[in-house]
Amino acid sequence: MSGISIFMYHQVGRFPEMREHRASYCDTDRFRGHMRYLKFIGANVMSMSAAVAALQGQHPIPPRAVVLTFDDGCENFYENALPILQEYGFPAIVYAIAGMTGKSAQWLAASGHPTPPLMTDARLREVAASGIEIGSHAYDHIHLAGLPESALRHEVSDSKRRLEDALGRTVEHFCYPYGSHDLAAILATAEAGYRSAVTCQRGAATPDFDVLALPRKGVSYGDDAIGFAWKLHMKNKPKGLALSRAHVPGRQ
Ligand SMILES: [Zn+2]
Repeated sequence: MSGISIFMYHQVGRFPEMREHRASYCDTDRFRGHMRYLKFIGANVMSMSAAVAALQGQHPIPPRAVVLTFDDGCENFYENALPILQEYGFPAIVYAIAGMTGKSAQWLAASGHPTPPLMTDARLREVAASGIEIGSHAYDHIHLAGLPESALRHEVSDSKRRLEDALGRTVEHFCYPYGSHDLAAILATAEAGYRSAVTCQRGAATPDFDVLALPRKGVSYGDDAIGFAWKLHMKNKPKGLALSRAHVPGRQ
């Protein structure tokens, strides 16, 4: 294993057996098992801010480096994941949708899935005060690739401002909804002043990647401790959009 394994979670709780969208659900007991495994192997669970600093060479990347990310800002993060993270003393980042706080995950209805409540601004402030970083998951949870410039700016820049106003602290990290991004989206996150942005490309993050297009490792409903361990140690390179810094013109 090399680089930093940035794990992607969505919902944590008790769910019936999932046949589709399995990457959106993690059973609470399995989640606890993942954290237990990280502690067992002496993983260095880092905040996203610390991980970015390491990827940029400000300090060495520690062995067994891990970041825990939670997309969408579901209330079940607060109910089920946060107490376990606190038990283990692990940092994490939650990516909240700026225009949907206090509402529900309506986009899941289209695929016949339940639409869990999303954390309110007050809840996000409480979570932030407990030491969890809050990042932006755009404004409306839409695909960003191919968006007209003004709409893209709204999703990327206005979401940052809206969350910063609601939280009373800076929002430095971004997460592309559905992993959807293109060069214009990457450049928009740079212009907005984000320090990092994550995709759904699979693989470990290394200094070869642009920090505004970092790969992650999705945790699936079926991942027990062995599946989780396999993902932690896998080294496969992401496929798809060329993500290495050398391939993103205008950025270094
Ligand atoms: Zn999402």
